[in-house]
Amino acid sequence: MKIGILAIQGDFDAHRKRLEELGAETVLVKTAADLEGLDGLVLPGGESTTHMKLLAEEGLLAPLVEHARRGMALFGTCAGAILLAKEVKNPEQASLALVDMTIVRNAYGRQLESCVTAGPATISHHPPDMVFIRAPVIERAGESVEVLARRDGAPVLVRQGSILVATFHPELSADPAVHAYFLKMVRNGRG
Ligand code: GLN
Repeated sequence: MKIGILAIQGDFDAHRKRLEELGAETVLVKTAADLEGLDGLVLPGGESTTHMKLLAEEGLLAPLVEHARRGMALFGTCAGAILLAKEVKNPEQASLALVDMTIVRNAYGRQLESCVTAGPATISHHPPDMVFIRAPVIERAGESVEVLARRDGAPVLVRQGSILVATFHPELSADPAVHAYFLKMVRNGRG
């Protein structure tokens, strides 16, 4: 199983390490050619506006959407989650618009800006550790979107077909459950 990690900005290396620990072959994706032959792609955290700008400059936007349409699974964390949302607020901005949800950037107040918490989730027996860093909030999740974990009532881990979205950073905790779930998802190829 070959998993790409978008490596144009942000914390891609922690994803690479975690995926390799779990036995996946990884590729750091910097150009459209790097997308060939991938079973899945991780869109890491960072700054979503910068990600969008660099994706456009590198000519990656259309190829990325095209590969996703042809079956490449996606996993967006934090800024990556923002890129995947159909609608982005605070402020409004362009996105890949692949998941039917509305997301609000930097939506936790200053004091809660960054924190670590654990919450109930349907993907593992124990509540996964969740590291939030200037995280967005999923304000609306469409009917096709399955909620896998919540924090204070709001969805923080969701899935739409072969796309997984986390508003937190599973690559920064010691808990491999979310990445293991993504790899299982890719393996099963459930659309
Ligand atoms: N606040 C960033 C954004 O809006 C996301 C932060 C993150 O990825 N940790 O793009």
